[in-house]
Amino acid sequence: MGVPGTEAADRALTRPARRGWAALVAILILAGAGALSVPAVQPPDARPADAPAAQFSAGRAYEHVKAIAATQHVTGSAANDAPREHVLSALRGLGLTPEVQDTVSVQGSDLSSSAGGIGLARVRNVVALWPGTASTGRIFLVAHYDSVQTGPGGNDDAAGTSAILETARALTSGPRLRNDVVLVLTDAEEACLCGAKAFVDQHPLARDGGVVLNLEARGSSGPAIMFETAARNAGLVDVFGHAAHPVGTSFAVEVYRLLPNDTDFTAFREKGFTGLNSAYIDGAAVYHTPLDTPAVMNRDSLQHLGDNVLSLTRELGDRDLPALRSGGDATYFPVPGGLLHYPGSWTWPLALLALAAVLALAVLARRRGLATAPRQIAAFGLTLVPVLAAPVLAQLLWALMKIIRPGYAEMPIDPYRPWGYRLAVVALTAAVVFAWYALLRRRIGPAALAVAGLLWLALLGVVLAALAPGGSYLTALPALAGALAGILAVVLRRGFPAALVLSLGACAGVVILLPTLVMFFPALGMNLAGSGAFIVALLALALLPIVDLLHPEAGGQRGTGALRARRRGALPTLVAIVAMIVAAAVGLSVDRLDTAHPAPTHLMYALDADTGQARWLSASATPTDWTAQYVGDKPATVTDSLPAFGPEELLSGPAQPAGLPAPVVTKTSDTTGAGVRTIALRLTPQRPARLVTLHVAADAQVTSATVGGRQVPVDRTAGGAWGFGFVFHGPPPAGVDVVLTVRAGTPLRVRAMDASDGLSALPGFRERPADVGVVGSHSSEMLAVAQTYTF
Ligand SMILES: [Zn+2]
Repeated sequence: MGVPGTEAADRALTRPARRGWAALVAILILAGAGALSVPAVQPPDARPADAPAAQFSAGRAYEHVKAIAATQHVTGSAANDAPREHVLSALRGLGLTPEVQDTVSVQGSDLSSSAGGIGLARVRNVVALWPGTASTGRIFLVAHYDSVQTGPGGNDDAAGTSAILETARALTSGPRLRNDVVLVLTDAEEACLCGAKAFVDQHPLARDGGVVLNLEARGSSGPAIMFETAARNAGLVDVFGHAAHPVGTSFAVEVYRLLPNDTDFTAFREKGFTGLNSAYIDGAAVYHTPLDTPAVMNRDSLQHLGDNVLSLTRELGDRDLPALRSGGDATYFPVPGGLLHYPGSWTWPLALLALAAVLALAVLARRRGLATAPRQIAAFGLTLVPVLAAPVLAQLLWALMKIIRPGYAEMPIDPYRPWGYRLAVVALTAAVVFAWYALLRRRIGPAALAVAGLLWLALLGVVLAALAPGGSYLTALPALAGALAGILAVVLRRGFPAALVLSLGACAGVVILLPTLVMFFPALGMNLAGSGAFIVALLALALLPIVDLLHPEAGGQRGTGALRARRRGALPTLVAIVAMIVAAAVGLSVDRLDTAHPAPTHLMYALDADTGQARWLSASATPTDWTAQYVGDKPATVTDSLPAFGPEELLSGPAQPAGLPAPVVTKTSDTTGAGVRTIALRLTPQRPARLVTLHVAADAQVTSATVGGRQVPVDRTAGGAWGFGFVFHGPPPAGVDVVLTVRAGTPLRVRAMDASDGLSALPGFRERPADVGVVGSHSSEMLAVAQTYTF
């Protein structure tokens, strides 16, 4: 018997048959807990197009997806007119009166730009108000209708936009709500979040704030996870518990802060709006690529997104919205049957209670002679080994997969079909824990190891309470449940009931950590496989008493008996290693790179109009053979000739110059007074351009700047020879007006660049093979022309 059995209990389970039965029962209990927990974080089935009018139907919403994501439709492009018109006509069809907010907007100050310099865009948001009967505030349903330039955005974010259109249909088919509902379909999210910024800064309906439900997709499948909230979320989280299928955890908020991602929600949150941000994130291999088409969408995920936004809007629609703002942050996570949530003020008491319970168990175990103090101390130190080794080995496993399949190198999150690899990481972690356990259980003893596992969980709960309170529950609650079960098992002094109690205690670990694993494997992807291994290792610490049941009784045997016991003790490790190899092999054979699943690569072209020289550029660290034929030179920064690229090192190679005109910069006015020169310029692209950039020589000392009529901050510089600069997305053909105040007395040097997309018409371009794809990035497939002007 594992921990806290007494000698009597040990004896009761000494006979292999008894132990075998106890192990079987424990495994069945844990498997049952797992079978109940995992469905809680799965999307519902998609409803067909003929579902009742009051319901959200993924079948109906998908018709919008096909219309919006028929082709790539980047901000400012002619192709972006069609989805905007589709959204407008769909809303008019519901009897609403949508308007287009057509304006210029500057990105939020805390966002790092997509390239060197501050981002701006001409945006055209679609906004529609569905007035409430006696509104206490406004509910904003937000998604972006623009796509990246490298793909049609079938999921990102035609899913969110379509879910809002279908939600609006379902809502307006019923009675009006008490509160106003405002539909905000933003533009230029992909460029600089400028559409959302334009709405919160400039639109009258945004003036009084409100509750935002933002919908996104960073992939093609998986549950719609509510992964971000504004501060003081307790009231809203309570409402979220009433959502049709609430999937979300307060831990996600903490993890999201560590990731370099932003959505429209950022602009709202910073302006003081409250709200919830949801996205489905699995299937991330297609994210921002040409493969993000309507066809790859899992419509169950669309149903999940829509079910929740519709049920939440109905729930919020009749609430007193200002009252939701009271209270602090909540801790919340999915459990079978719904969302468990409690006030954040419970975090410290629960973490400390868990620690106290584990320490009490440690004292009890020593008093009952189950684990001496030296053994407990040794166990405590040695328990770090699997917790640290499993993540390191998981990263090495993925590095090995990338060596076997070099095409994975440029996949930023996950391969196309990561399931085999994810299972391999689980099996690898199990192998590490089993091997560690088999080596130590005779020397250290099962009780000391089990207590040490719980102690690490409890300590991590305390650390998280201090650093990331929303995640403390992850380890504190399994530690608390495990310790209470351990104490009860020691008191019971009987083998089989004690095993039963320990199994039930370990269930808390399964119920809490297994859904976490299901949500976080896709969140961080195989490139951070170690994070998944870490969660599995934590789960294993909660299960050590059950792991012990898989091993023969500790101690007692001599000679051949001991040898047989040792062999049997190695069996779980061997099974896990075989499972890992099989899973990795299945992963490699299932997830082959082919025409439908190409290896992504980054390539772009830059023409310097000053010298007439052109270069191929690639941000790929390990380029495909196809890419390598263009870029043979050593990686280097291109800041001097392309200041918009910042300090990132790129591969490069010579290219044939194309007959492309550079953007033109003309002076429209120029005055000097008191040592300050105020110069007005117009930057005009000479071809259809997705964006134009302008950078000013570092020695010019820009003290203020207005771009497109908007004041922009001047404190950020491109680096090298260039100082202040901006990136203007979707420039009007007539050009962008720029007013700069600079130091007088020296000529003003500026570097202008424009960029369009698509390389296939360039001289010297050879079509990529079918199994080579496109990396989803802002500069992928970009064609840039730059020229320097002096005034
Ligand atoms: Zn998006």
